[in-house]
Amino acid sequence: MSRDTALGLPGSLGVGVGPAFLVPRPGRAIRRRAADPEREVARLEGAITEARQEIERARSAFVGDESEIALVLDAQLLLYSDRMLAEWTAKAIREEGLGVEWAVERTVGRLGEPLRQSSARYLRERAEDIDHVGRHLLRQLRGDAELELPEGDVVLVAADLSPAEAARIFAAPGLRGVVLESGSATSHTALLARALEVPAVVGARGALDRVISGEALVVDGLRGRVLIAPDPEERAEAEARGGRYRAFAQGLLERRTEPVATRDGVEVTVRANLELPEEIDLALTHGARGVGLYRTEFLLLHRGAVPSEEEQLAVYRRVAEAMAPAPVVFRTFDLGGDKLPPGERLGRGPNPAMGLRAMRLMRRRPELLRRQVRALLRAAVGEDVRVMFPMIAGVGELREARALVERCAAELSAEGVDHRMPPLGCMVEVPAAALRVHRLAAESDFLSVGTNDLVQYTLAADRTDPEVADVATPFDPAILELLQRIAEGAAGTPLAMCGDMAADPLALPLVLGLGYRALSVPVGSLPLVLEVVRRIDLGEAQALAAEAVELDDAAAVSALVRERAKDALGELWREVDA
Ligand code: PEP
Ligand code: MG
Repeated sequence: MSRDTALGLPGSLGVGVGPAFLVPRPGRAIRRRAADPEREVARLEGAITEARQEIERARSAFVGDESEIALVLDAQLLLYSDRMLAEWTAKAIREEGLGVEWAVERTVGRLGEPLRQSSARYLRERAEDIDHVGRHLLRQLRGDAELELPEGDVVLVAADLSPAEAARIFAAPGLRGVVLESGSATSHTALLARALEVPAVVGARGALDRVISGEALVVDGLRGRVLIAPDPEERAEAEARGGRYRAFAQGLLERRTEPVATRDGVEVTVRANLELPEEIDLALTHGARGVGLYRTEFLLLHRGAVPSEEEQLAVYRRVAEAMAPAPVVFRTFDLGGDKLPPGERLGRGPNPAMGLRAMRLMRRRPELLRRQVRALLRAAVGEDVRVMFPMIAGVGELREARALVERCAAELSAEGVDHRMPPLGCMVEVPAAALRVHRLAAESDFLSVGTNDLVQYTLAADRTDPEVADVATPFDPAILELLQRIAEGAAGTPLAMCGDMAADPLALPLVLGLGYRALSVPVGSLPLVLEVVRRIDLGEAQALAAEAVELDDAAAVSALVRERAKDALGELWREVDA
């Protein structure tokens, strides 16, 4: 039996096995055993000395000063001189074999405990001083280096990663799996794990407090479960399951070029969602008929800087040429919410998902959007490039965006720079847009439904919060009804779905049944989606959707869909509903 199990949510399909590599929460220790206790004690002494010197340097700016700051620094120095801090920590290292960071955290916790329990506010505040010392020491011990994975196989365990870190780290060759304490299936980190085909469990609360660095982990991205220190039998079973899943995915790959139509012969277009140019090859080998959503903001998040017009042009051209003659839908920067580059001040309001995001943020940064649109208009020459605006809430915003594109085109004409006006479309992912989709449809060349945000905003359930993952589900009848209204309201304007609902094998009969015939899904999900579409009977799917919309809640819809899916999906079912 494994030592422990952490439960989470499936973030990216597949099963990975490897030793744990922990990224501690800011100010928290890595739970690691000491390989060489005397070396760890020496690191402790070095860190205490450095921390003391840092405070002394800061203190020297206040010589003879009785200010509040000087007093606080003096109190901190006293704490560093406390023999118990050094002695108890060294004892935990030598006698219990704890790594120095873990031992510091333990000692600081024990020193502060009686104060924390006190009813006097003054004493409780002294406990906070002790906690500060602990965090300061941990920072000394860790340094502030950029996150790097060690050589060889690893399973990464972290509280959360920024999209920029995730984009860099998930491509590492030795990465066998990812466990995140935060996030849900549609958070951007999960989405990147799927794009780069790394098995992932997200929303695994408390994982960092239960895993010890270096111990073996099984990341079961099919079941949303992490086995901590599995026994040899469990490990072998996990490896076999992982192998079976890879073989199953490989089998699907072999059918990728076959026509994509439902059992009763209705054609469905399946395109890829891309975040990084590195995914182009996978998109092609996995059978994508073009790119239905290119999340351009990752260009910026990945590098932490805004690429120039020429740099962007080079990327857009490369993607468009690689996918030709199939189309590529480039979505303009959707920054904000859980996607902000380091150092960006705007978009960090009290509730970023509802604050300055996407076009609203771009209104404050018109230069950024202008640069991007110019690059896109130039990339459109000779290629099937299409441009889509994110988070449009109403027709006014759409007109504003279109006007900006027209201004850029006029500028390029005046400068004599070759360009072409591409088809312009918008995402339907804000409930207000869904309700008035007919108005957007009348002024758009195409529409694409983003279910990740549509679900989040319609059900008032944060897509990044695992606590409400069961609420934020596209199986809610309110979402189905909204999707139905969108399909009807689009009336003739080409309509696609690029949110993750389109990649969920259990949701697909509903999606097709509600009237959607064009999908765009994460690269890693392509083969499975193509195969599921081929097994759906559209007549049955329409009847299922009509029945589901009338049900009371998401649980009832989910039960109905599962019941019907078992027959339709056959052996596919066993893999997706493990
Ligand atoms: C969506 O919201 O469904 C979507 C496709 O956009 P993103 O996931 O990038 O917010
Ligand atoms: Mg969105």
